[in-house]
Amino acid sequence: MNLHLTDSFNKHLPADNIQHNTRRQVFGSCFSFVSPKKTKNASLIHVSEEMLLELGMDLADSYTNEFLSIFSGNAILPKSRPYAMCYGGHQFGHWAGQLGDGRAINLAEITHNHKRWALQLKGAGETPYSRNADGLAVLRSSIREHLCSEAMHHLGVPTTRSLSLCLTGDEVLRDMMYDGNSAYEKGAVICRVSPSFIRFGSFEIFAHRGDTKNLKLLTDYTISEFFPDIEDRSKQGYLNFFNQVLDRTLEMIIHWQRVGFVHGVMNTDNMSILGLTIDYGPYGWLEGYDPHWTPNTTDRQSKRYRFSNQPSIGLWNLYQLANALHPLIEEATGLEAALERYKKEYVERYQSMMRNKLGLEKFLEGDNKLVVDLTEVFLLSETDMTIFFRLLAKTEKTDSSETVLEKINQAFYSPEEIKGKIKENWTAWFTAYLKRLQLQDVSDENRAIQMNKVNPKYVLRNYMAQLIIDKADEGDYELIQEIHSILKQPYDEQTEHHKWFSKRPEWARHKVGCSMLSCSS
Ligand code: AMP
Ligand code: MG
Repeated sequence: MNLHLTDSFNKHLPADNIQHNTRRQVFGSCFSFVSPKKTKNASLIHVSEEMLLELGMDLADSYTNEFLSIFSGNAILPKSRPYAMCYGGHQFGHWAGQLGDGRAINLAEITHNHKRWALQLKGAGETPYSRNADGLAVLRSSIREHLCSEAMHHLGVPTTRSLSLCLTGDEVLRDMMYDGNSAYEKGAVICRVSPSFIRFGSFEIFAHRGDTKNLKLLTDYTISEFFPDIEDRSKQGYLNFFNQVLDRTLEMIIHWQRVGFVHGVMNTDNMSILGLTIDYGPYGWLEGYDPHWTPNTTDRQSKRYRFSNQPSIGLWNLYQLANALHPLIEEATGLEAALERYKKEYVERYQSMMRNKLGLEKFLEGDNKLVVDLTEVFLLSETDMTIFFRLLAKTEKTDSSETVLEKINQAFYSPEEIKGKIKENWTAWFTAYLKRLQLQDVSDENRAIQMNKVNPKYVLRNYMAQLIIDKADEGDYELIQEIHSILKQPYDEQTEHHKWFSKRPEWARHKVGCSMLSCSS
């Protein structure tokens, strides 16, 4: 194993000068040096081959003891100095003070093929930022994060990645639904990979503490390392930086809405400064198209982070980042203009994304209404979002609306409900859709090809993740392998795997882990 170490975060930015690993407030520094915890009996469960290659390794490397030791936290890479990052954040709308890497430990940054990557263990033991928790992670949440980050990458959604999933051999106590029923679960560690794990909260902590010196150091560092086209370190440069973060955040959220992903905990400490999906916790996939759905039971009351709210929460979070950067820019006008731009561009980009999902080339008068009307008919009867768009691609211009309705029938959870008024509404929508298709000179075949590039056939449905977890808990890792491999080509037909192109089974409707997830992980 020959990784090319190019540590920069822990070399260029100020370190916590207290070296012992005790929980505390850490001032005036971006990180604390800390070592991963040794585990009882580590074993490797799964590795992402694509990620191995990206990092300059191959499968043979992953079979070595060295690999297992390093990626389970039992040894560190030669010449590396692992560390936990300091950040704050707004959680559920309120400033929460210092949070930081409570259970994540950055091993090193490496460069391969001119791309740089930070390697970070999650669940590798306590750090100065662990507050009142144990620094560990359990198997179920580690499987969910490992598989989903790779699945999102293959879906074309900007995301952090995951290299490996190890069992630690240690037991971890968790109260899964926060209802007083604690139980021991299997401990696990994943190795997350990203160009950087810097978050909105990394800037907010300095702004909230009035530490403009370190705010500037971190911002200058982030710009030079990750936004190299911004040359000046003036007000204009910082504003430019904010605009680029805003664009990337918006882009990421539009992708979430396209594939039906609900992050579940869009706190500002979980917002990557690079616009990558980060911190996969109680996330979920829309099955029945319900804009008000959130998988996170901790958010059951206000549903702050529900599917339809993600774009406006993205904006709210950008307001917090704007406030944090304000001391460097010292005037609000440019920041406010950027935030206004988000609102306008969101509408345009959302419409254009939905047009692509529907296979509509170019914008025509009436398209926005077609999109709005569709989201309204979706509400009349539980309709599987993924299956609906995939089957809609089979529409032929010469079809009658009745025929299209038959073609997408499989997307309905209760097809017997499609009668009377509900059926009339669906038929009316298909009639409008067919009429719209007549207005463009695109063959049915080409439209289907285009639609199938943006409408995935396979996503990591909540119940699929749970089936994988149940098997893995028994020591059977075949299903992880199988589903990981299907999710590498989510837009391909893969007819041999058709059984995963199916609606959520009834047993999963109200099951913990499938429709209900908490932050306990
Ligand atoms: P999350 O909601 O998972 O993004 O976590 C919010 C904060 O809690 C972050 O600072 C995490 O590092 C910390 N945290 C979550 N779980 C644990 C844990 N088991 N041990 C230590 N810190 C944790
Ligand atoms: Mg987090």
